[in-house]
Amino acid sequence: MQIAVLIKQVPETSNVKMDPDTGTMIRTGTENVINPLDLYAIETALKLKESSGAAVTVITMGPEQARKVLKEALSMGCDKAILLSDRKFAGSDTWATSYVLSRAILDSGPYDLIIAGERATDGDTGQVGPGIAAWLDIPAVTFVSSIESCVFSRLDCSRLIEDGYQKVSVALPALITVVKEIGAVRLPTLKGKIRARSTDIPVLTADSLSAHKPLWGLANSPTKVVKIGKATVARAGKRVTVDDKFTADNAVDSLITFLAGKDLIQKESA
Ligand SMILES: Cc1cc2nc3c(=O)[nH]c(=O)nc-3n(C[C@H](O)[C@H](O)[C@H](O)COP(=O)(O)OP(=O)(O)OC[C@H]3O[C@@H](n4cnc5c(N)ncnc54)[C@H](O)[C@@H]3O)c2cc1C
Repeated sequence: MQIAVLIKQVPETSNVKMDPDTGTMIRTGTENVINPLDLYAIETALKLKESSGAAVTVITMGPEQARKVLKEALSMGCDKAILLSDRKFAGSDTWATSYVLSRAILDSGPYDLIIAGERATDGDTGQVGPGIAAWLDIPAVTFVSSIESCVFSRLDCSRLIEDGYQKVSVALPALITVVKEIGAVRLPTLKGKIRARSTDIPVLTADSLSAHKPLWGLANSPTKVVKIGKATVARAGKRVTVDDKFTADNAVDSLITFLAGKDLIQKESA
């Protein structure tokens, strides 16, 4: 069984800054790490490797520095890594990113199973996984929380839904996105780190992809960032102070009256 795992390099800080002119994220000057939710995608693949002898290829699209997250995935136990890097990919939205990744999957595959994280902590759309499945015309199962079995070209799994779990059986090849519940993530081993250091990571560029059309980059991205604004929450609160004249009971009554006046709570009639 061949598995491809998609990982994204994201800024370590949650304090992501945007470029007001281009509407894109400022990615320089921040420490980059594996998207934390993609560690669960790696873990899922490595469990399948242990149980069924699958081979795991980890793929990322990003700048040259993204090599670092691929090395980390290799040191956790992934077998191969591929970096998709080209200035022509810059400015790609989720649609174009999904296209580039789907072409790399076709070119380096075939894969039986493609595993992505639930969402990236910076872009946060959760669109890339299902987008790739659409480009490849294969089924996508999102929010997978456990895998019951993966044999004979069929995957049985459970997915997290709003009020419980849904059992899904899907024919392979398929793409899944996984949630944290799938299991605790392992740490890289010393042996893995030594192996990762000597593992060659091929770089795929725009010209090396067997793409029919160059559907990447800012010019080919249908999403246009029209305006970026900072959301501000106006809180017209009320502060009450208990002192010699104003007892705690008075203070509570006054807050209840204030909240009821805003229809935030219902005041019980005496
Ligand atoms: C107009 C526009 C211009 C943009 N320009 C740039 C740019 O110049 N540079 C840039 O880095 N971003 C750019 N972006 C952001 C970029 O499109 C998204 O970061 C990217 O498509 C992933 O979307 P997301 O972060 O919402 O990921 P999600 O859809 O939330 O990610 C879900 C999962 O998909 C997989 N995944 C996502 N992205 C990748 C990846 N790159 N490689 C491998 N697996 C991945 C991971 O498994 C991840 O957990 C731009 C966006 C827009 C709208």
